[in-house]
Amino acid sequence: MNKSYLGEQIYFTKDCDYSLNNTNQKKVEELLERNIAVGVVGGFYEENYPVYFISHFALRNLGYTFDEFMMKTNGNFLEIVSPEDRIFFEKGLKKKSDHIREYRVLNNKNEDIWIKEMHTESESDDGRKLWLCSIRLAQNEHIYRKKFISTISHDIRTPLNAIIGMARLAKINYYSKEKMEEYLNLVIKSSYHLLNQIDEVLDMNSIETGVMLQNENMFNLGVFISDIENMFKPVLKEREQNLRVIYNGVRHWEVIGDNINLKKVFVNILANASKYSDDKSDIELIVEEVHSSSQEYAEYKFTFADHGIGISEDMLELIFEPFERIVDSRNTGDIPHIGLGLAVTKSIVDMMHGSLEVESELQSGSKFILTQKIKIQTYENVKAVNAMEHDLEGMRILIVEDNDLNQKIVGELLEIEKVKVEMACNGKEAAEIFDNKEKGYYDAILMDIHMPVMNGYESTDMIRKNTDKGGDIIPIIALTSDTLASDVEKSLKHGMNGHMSKPVDFEELKETLLFWKNKKHGKI
Ligand code: ADP
Repeated sequence: MNKSYLGEQIYFTKDCDYSLNNTNQKKVEELLERNIAVGVVGGFYEENYPVYFISHFALRNLGYTFDEFMMKTNGNFLEIVSPEDRIFFEKGLKKKSDHIREYRVLNNKNEDIWIKEMHTESESDDGRKLWLCSIRLAQNEHIYRKKFISTISHDIRTPLNAIIGMARLAKINYYSKEKMEEYLNLVIKSSYHLLNQIDEVLDMNSIETGVMLQNENMFNLGVFISDIENMFKPVLKEREQNLRVIYNGVRHWEVIGDNINLKKVFVNILANASKYSDDKSDIELIVEEVHSSSQEYAEYKFTFADHGIGISEDMLELIFEPFERIVDSRNTGDIPHIGLGLAVTKSIVDMMHGSLEVESELQSGSKFILTQKIKIQTYENVKAVNAMEHDLEGMRILIVEDNDLNQKIVGELLEIEKVKVEMACNGKEAAEIFDNKEKGYYDAILMDIHMPVMNGYESTDMIRKNTDKGGDIIPIIALTSDTLASDVEKSLKHGMNGHMSKPVDFEELKETLLFWKNKKHGKI
C-alpha cells in the first residue's frame, strides 16, 4: 500500500494504518523540503525499530525495492544498520531530539554505504512514539571528508609546528637581535604557507558550492604580469631560480576581466614550477595573443614551462583531482603542499571558460598551458564597466547578529564605507524590523545563523514569505562560522543569496555587496 507526499511515494509496512495524520504528514513534508536528494523513513521507538513507512527515494538510496527491503529486514530498520554502527544508531535514537548524523547501512548486496539522516520525533494516532528521518547518500561526502581530514591534519600541522618551534626559539634568544630576526622571518614564512593552504581549502569550498564571485575589473596585462613577477622575486631569489617572461604578438594590453582569480591561477602554477624544480633552474612564462576575429575579446595563451622533476604519464590525469599529489622523493622534504592547488586552479579556469592543459615528462620538466579569452577595453566595454557602482556609499544594510562584538566589527567596517547600518539581535527581531519598513528600504541583509529566539534559517524563511515588503527579492547573505559545503548548501536551500564565513573578509564582503548594489540598479 502506498501514498504520495510532495511527489515522493511512500510505502507503509503492512501492520499500520496506511496513512499519516496531519502532524506527521507536515513533518514528513518538512523533512523532504529541507533537504536535497532525500527520501524519508519513519518507525517506532520499539525493539529493533520497526518501520512504519519508507519512501521510494529512501529505498533507492539504500539500494532496495520495497519487497527486497521487507524480505531482508522483516520490517525492522535495525537489520540493515551495519553491525559496527548499531550501538551508535541506537544511542542516537534514544536522544529523541532533532539531530543530523551519519552512519553505515548494508545495501542489497550486503555492502556498507554511508548515509546521512536528519532525525526528528513524533507520535502516531494510537500514542506510539515515532522516529522520522530523512535519508541521503553520504558516500562521496564521507570519502572526501576522510581524505580531507587526513591530509589537512598533516599539512596544517607541519607549518604550525614550525611556527610554534620558531616562536619558542625566538623567546629563548630574546637578547640576540640577529637570531630573533631569523626566527621571526621563519615564523612569517610558515604563517604564509598556512594561510595559503587555508585559502585553498576555502576557495575549493566556494567553488564546489557555486558561491565563488567572479570579478570584472579593468587592468593592464603587462602590469598584471610584472606584479606577479615582483611577488615571486623573494621566493625565486632564495632558490636562485630565474623567471623569464617572453611576450609574443600581444596587441591588446588594456583588458577587462577577473584579474583576482586569474592571479590565483598564475600564482598556483608558478609556485609549483618553482617548488618542483631544482635550485638555479629557469622558469619561462610565454605570453601570446592568439589570432581572434572577435572585436570584443582577445584570446591569450600563457605557457608556464619549468625544467624540474616532471610528472609521470599515469599521474598526469590525477593532478587536477583534489588532494592528489605524487608520493615520491619530492614529498620527503618540507615542501608545503596539500594537493589542492591544481584542483582549485582548474576549477577557476573552468569557471572563467578557459582551458588548462599539461604536458610533462619525468626528469625533464613540465609545461602548463592556459588558454583564456579576456575582454578588451573597447569603448563600449569600458562604458559598461564605468557605469557600474564602485563604492558602497548610500546602501542600507540590516545586520542580524546576536554577538555584540561581531555587530560592532561588521557595523563599523561598513560605516567607514558610508553604508547606513541597522542592527537586529536575532532572527525574530529581524523579520519584525523588516516588516515595519517600506518595500525597498534595505539593500541587503547580513544574516548570522546561530542565534537565540530564532535562527537565521527560520528568519530567512519568514522574510522570504513577506512578499508585500519585497522579502522575496531582498539579497540575504549568511555570515556565519559554519563553513562546510553542506552548511552553504543549507543556506542556499533556505533561499539565501550567498554565504560568507566569519571572521569576515572585508574585501569579499565589499565585493558581494557591490555586486548586489549593481544588480539592484540594473547595471549587471
Ligand atoms: P600541491 O599542494 O601538492 O603542490 P597541487 O594540486 O598544486 O598540489 O599539485 C598536485 C601535484 O602535482 C603535486 O603534488 C606535484 O606532485 C605535481 N605537480 C604540480 N605541478 C608540478 C610541476 N610544475 N612539476 C612537477 N610536479 C608538479
